[in-house]
Amino acid sequence: MFDTRELGRRPGALKRVSRSVPAPADLGIEVIGVPENAAVELDLRLESVMEGVLVTGTARAPLTGECVRCLEPLEHELDADFQEMYSYPDADARGRIAAADDDAEDDEEELLFLEDDMFDLEPVLRDAVVLSLPLQPVCQEDCPGLCSDCGARLADDPDHHHDAVDIRWAALQGLAGSDQDGEKDNAPRSDGDDSQEK
Ligand SMILES: [Zn+2]
Ligand SMILES: [Zn+2]
Repeated sequence: MFDTRELGRRPGALKRVSRSVPAPADLGIEVIGVPENAAVELDLRLESVMEGVLVTGTARAPLTGECVRCLEPLEHELDADFQEMYSYPDADARGRIAAADDDAEDDEEELLFLEDDMFDLEPVLRDAVVLSLPLQPVCQEDCPGLCSDCGARLADDPDHHHDAVDIRWAALQGLAGSDQDGEKDNAPRSDGDDSQEK
């Protein structure tokens, strides 16, 4: 929660706030996000306007996730911008009427309010973080992913390949091996059976 009392209600008043806060749980998306309790560096500009406080800011934080192609852990830096209007509670009626004029706008914009001159940045931070994250994070722009035959990470081994010939050869060797084994297994047994019968 951030306090706006020092800002005052005179429209045009400005205040800059820099603060480091621990990241809440689940700040991010499934494949990448800010680790819980990691330091989130916030730089905010609070501007007093007629109906409330306009908050403009940036958030910086470490990101951890995994490459969607090769599953390698990766680290990035979050740099998210946001801007949000927090209305005074007594601006409620005015805000509602204005929003009711336009149904589409009403659906998109959910009004946030100051509570006892404080505002909660968390929902705004969450939205900003999710919007700034790559939906498909990769360890490197041209990550070749994993080998579809054996699952090896191709970025570690650029020359990695399986020749079609190799696979067939391996298959033939496998077949030849089992035939030989079969013959070896059968031969002594039939000999033994024969000698016992005699
Ligand atoms: Zn990768
Ligand atoms: Zn392979």
